Amino acid sequence: MNDRIRRFSFCPKCGGVLELRHIKGRERLVCRECRYIFFENPVVGVAVILQTSDQRILLARRAKHSTYPGLWCIPCGYVEYDEDVREAARREFREETGLEVELGPVFTVLSNFHNPETHTVGIWFQADIVGGCLQAGDDVDAVGWHDLDNPPPLAFPSDYTVLELLKKCCRGTVSGV
Ligand SMILES: [Zn+2]
Repeated sequence: MNDRIRRFSFCPKCGGVLELRHIKGRERLVCRECRYIFFENPVVGVAVILQTSDQRILLARRAKHSTYPGLWCIPCGYVEYDEDVREAARREFREETGLEVELGPVFTVLSNFHNPETHTVGIWFQADIVGGCLQAGDDVDAVGWHDLDNPPPLAFPSDYTVLELLKKCCRGTVSGV
C-alpha cells in the first residue's frame, strides 16, 4: 500500500476540526467537536471489458478536461453513492462509448493505489454488445480497438495488469467487429 496522506481537515457533519486518533487498530480522523469518526474507505470504480475474437480490446482515450488527459484506459467510471454497481458499469460504458452492453461475469477486482488522493477498488466486468453505436463521449475523446500486446499509453497501472490477465485467459466475445 502507498503512503497515506491527510486528505481532510474538517468534520463533514459539524465543521469541527478533525484530528488523528488511534481507534479500532489504526490512526483515524475524529472530530474534536462531535466525536464523529471519519472512516476513509476506497471509492468503487467499474470498468467494462469488450474483446474481439482476435483478442483486441476496446480502449478509450481520456479527454482534455478529464484526469490523465491523452492517456488511454479500459472504459470506466465511479459508482454513484445510491447506484447499483452493475447499472453504474453499463451507464459509464454507454456514456463513454455509445454502446449498450449486457454484463457478464466479473473478470477481476483490484485495489488501485496509484492516486494518493483517491484510493479505489476497481471491478472489471466482461460484457457483450447489445446495442448502440461506437462513439466517444463524456470524459473520453476517442475509442478504438487495440491489441492486448501493444496498447497505447495507459492511465492506470491496474489496466496493464488486466491486459496481462486477459492475455492469459484468451476470451474473445465480440463477433463481427
Ligand atoms: Zn463534527
